[in-house]
Amino acid sequence: MTAPLASRLRGFGTTIFAEMSALAVTTGSINLGQGFPDYPGPPEVLDVARAAIGTDADQYPPGPGIPELRAAVTGHRERSTGTRYDPDTEVLVTAGATEALAAAMLALLEPGDEVVLFEPIYDSYSASVAMAGGVIRPVPLHPPEGGPGPWTFDEAELRAAITPRTRLLLVNSPHNPTGTVLTGEELAVLAELATTHDLVVVTDEVYEHLVFDGARHVSLATLPGMRERTLVVSSAGKTFNVTGWKVGWVCGPAALVAAVRTAKQFLTYVNAGPFQPAVAAGLRLPEAYFTGIARDLEYRRDVLVAGLRDAGLPVISPQATYFATVDVRGVQPDGDGLAFCRALPERAGVVAIPTVVFYTPEHAHLGRHLVRFAFCKSDAVLAEAVERLRRLA
Ligand code: PMP
Ligand code: GLN
Repeated sequence: MTAPLASRLRGFGTTIFAEMSALAVTTGSINLGQGFPDYPGPPEVLDVARAAIGTDADQYPPGPGIPELRAAVTGHRERSTGTRYDPDTEVLVTAGATEALAAAMLALLEPGDEVVLFEPIYDSYSASVAMAGGVIRPVPLHPPEGGPGPWTFDEAELRAAITPRTRLLLVNSPHNPTGTVLTGEELAVLAELATTHDLVVVTDEVYEHLVFDGARHVSLATLPGMRERTLVVSSAGKTFNVTGWKVGWVCGPAALVAAVRTAKQFLTYVNAGPFQPAVAAGLRLPEAYFTGIARDLEYRRDVLVAGLRDAGLPVISPQATYFATVDVRGVQPDGDGLAFCRALPERAGVVAIPTVVFYTPEHAHLGRHLVRFAFCKSDAVLAEAVERLRRLA
């Protein structure tokens, strides 16, 4: 038999997150690779899910999501960004942000359509675009010259990536893996390009609440002229410490949401019955909850960043997300971040993610020496990780 994997998926292999989480288990290492918290979500959310199991909520929810969750999503969106969406026609509940993004690509792209996005690229984007027959046009985010972030793009490189085949801009801010939050000026450039070239925009805002140092996340959908062409994707995983629940959503104008629903209904149809009312309860929590999680994570970032510096690793301290990036050239003479990560369990009993996996082969040299560490971990785990990382110094 010839190789069974269809050509459009060749080269995707096993995700780095699966590979590195398995390595953490087999080597007994502390897993600072895959971004998931090791502490529970708020009881107001968890208790609702527990109570929902064993009720009608165990059966198929309605295709677009339960009305209570759709209303909670729109209410939360209006409170946090000022943008109003109709809960009946402009929201769709999905199996995590991952399904929302995949369904959007399947729904909106014709074969050969081009998607402009920033590189390093969160891994599911390239695969989703490929499954839809589209083509990615990556634009590098350049790391800051020494010292803290943010990473920035070169406007000329962005403009050059737009061609007559460009259909869609896929924008992840706050950005994984760099932890950068795009500025108002950068968003304005994206909005201008989207309107001039009549592009659909998909924003991935799963880290919308995990922003530090007074940096502010602004949704591209709130810029003039953008609401009508933008699908906003977010999810519960990061906001409520429930990455395994896979409850996400997409908000946007009715025609775009209907297109995504058409694809989504044949992927999973529906998911997460008992978790939907729980996430609704979470989205109704007072503002103090959302500011509190950012402050808490900012403290964890500071602990890990200080520890990495003590271990002799120059760090690009992030403005947002779960992740800090280090330059390994001082502790890995060949500068190979992938080799560094494969050896890190043995050298220090810690697992991290080589940033190079988020690059296309063409730009891999830009990320070869970089490695991503997650800091969404409990105090004891972070303290132990920092202690172990000292072995590198
Ligand atoms: N987008 C980004 C940028 C992510 O980091 C992740 C991982 N949490 C996702 C999407 C996937 O989110 P979900 O788990 O809700 O599918
Ligand atoms: N978003 C998580 C990360 O970047 C991983 C999610 C996954 O395993 N697909 O670490």
